[in-house]
Amino acid sequence: MTVDRPARRIAARVRVAVGVATAKAERPRNEDAVWARDGAFLVADGMGGHDRGEVASRTAIEVLRGLSQGAPTPDEARAMVREAHAAVRALPKGTGRRPGTTVTGVVLTEHDGVPCWLVVNVGDSRTYRMAGAVLEQVTQDHSEVAELVAAGVVSAEDASRHPRRNVVTRVLGGGSRDVEPDVWLLPVSPGDRMLMCSDGLTDALSDARIEAELRAADDPQEAADRLIAAALAAGGRDNVTAVVVDAAVTRRPA
Ligand code: MG
Repeated sequence: MTVDRPARRIAARVRVAVGVATAKAERPRNEDAVWARDGAFLVADGMGGHDRGEVASRTAIEVLRGLSQGAPTPDEARAMVREAHAAVRALPKGTGRRPGTTVTGVVLTEHDGVPCWLVVNVGDSRTYRMAGAVLEQVTQDHSEVAELVAAGVVSAEDASRHPRRNVVTRVLGGGSRDVEPDVWLLPVSPGDRMLMCSDGLTDALSDARIEAELRAADDPQEAADRLIAAALAAGGRDNVTAVVVDAAVTRRPA
């Protein structure tokens, strides 16, 4: 995707500051991957035998970084997620599970002249928005347990300890032929703080704790560092990644 005029216009109106932090915690390697520049802020959490998860998440990010600078429409974003799915599916399987990866994040775009966050999600990594110091989960997990909660079978409280909480129902790659990403458009509000994270963060910390850490740091890099440190201190064992993006919007240029 080439840098087009809407993308330049958005970059002129929405100033972002970004923080990125990640840790492999107790896993042998870090299978999370990140892209956080040029208007696209994405986290992918790979899975598969041996090094396949690492390759899966990086492959997805290599394709999806194409969303940066392109001011994509929702349909363009869906098409690129399908392209990433095909690229991960084309990876050699190796000896273990078929490689797969989640992806979540935001891309700056424009809709009817209004700067927007285009949110994409497949799997159980999450995108949150903090507006007015209140944290809201934007994405819905594609996981067995999230579906049980939605069906009223499992309470939200029990979900965080459920033995199958890490079983995802949609991934890029994996066994399924097609993928249906969730895509939303949210107008950018001045002062928005977006958080993209892998499940290593949300398994280790409650939403209330995540909100408290985000409030405690003005600087997005400090916020990301605090979140990772808190997850590790809480005994988090999985790879853990946090991308924090602060947005300042200037008035429409004349
Ligand atoms: Mg994980």
